[in-house]
Amino acid sequence: MFKSVMLMGAKSALAFLMMYWFAWLTSATAHDVLPLGDGKISNGPEAGYLFACQQRFNPNAPGAHRRGDWIKGDEWYPAQKVTVDGAVAWPNAKIEITVEGGRRIVSANNLPLHETGMFPIRRDDDAYRYDRNPGRIEEQIILLDLPRVPKVANTLSCVPMGMIGFTLSGAALYNAVDARGNDAPAHEIQDKCNGHPQQTGQYHYHNYSDCQTDTRSQAGGHSDLLGYALDGFGIFGIYGEQGAELSTSDLDACHGHSHDVTWDGVATTLYHYHFTYDYPYTVGCFRGTPIRTQTPRFLGPPDRPPPPFGAPPR
Ligand SMILES: [Zn+2]
Ligand SMILES: [Zn+2]
Repeated sequence: MFKSVMLMGAKSALAFLMMYWFAWLTSATAHDVLPLGDGKISNGPEAGYLFACQQRFNPNAPGAHRRGDWIKGDEWYPAQKVTVDGAVAWPNAKIEITVEGGRRIVSANNLPLHETGMFPIRRDDDAYRYDRNPGRIEEQIILLDLPRVPKVANTLSCVPMGMIGFTLSGAALYNAVDARGNDAPAHEIQDKCNGHPQQTGQYHYHNYSDCQTDTRSQAGGHSDLLGYALDGFGIFGIYGEQGAELSTSDLDACHGHSHDVTWDGVATTLYHYHFTYDYPYTVGCFRGTPIRTQTPRFLGPPDRPPPPFGAPPR
């Protein structure tokens, strides 16, 4: 290209370069703008929707108090969204995954292995103009007893509010919607790792976090395993077979598919979920049988009571 530019007159070369620059500017990738998921809740499995166990939502539930400028009509622009400032390290973060017979035990304290923003959101943070999240990140007891090799269930299950899975980076995974039933990644304010705490201090993602480690070491550049859903099936990164970036339209109603993956070190044809950049971002329904979990317990110092509000997920 450079050679051909040299052969042109200065004026046409400039026009040529301008054209390139413009093409580069407008070559926005598909996830610079995303469809807004508001209202995409179903009461049965449906691709592109969240099959939510909760069907009614309180429009005044805790959350962002102001609609983001990055939401335009029925689309939103992730790169334009504000993030919570700060770089807080969690040296005591702990996650351990062991296999005992046919079970997989996930034991963690829910502190992330990566840095987070500063919570509660401070007044001088630009994020405070949208969300005054008063929650602080607190240790939680995570003890999940999952099937090592889950089976597809006869019926697909709805996805609850609160924790729906746990990631290898130490963060809990919540579903696609906030306590008001709206698209959580679009409306709620997160740190640069796409995480934030809810009322009992549980640090969680609602969508893909860049702070997870995906080396794409699986065959063909398929994403790595990044976490486990509550039915025991794996949740992998953005890339599918042959390393292709996946979107919701490539996956089934539960936001997964089945093919060979490395499972506990062995190539196994197994169902699994994927993160995608687009709604519903992760698990849309459970393909297996989810375990029951209890609301995570508050583990703050005994002299400080839990925050004085209820515990709807946010
Ligand atoms: Zn896959
Ligand atoms: Zn949340």
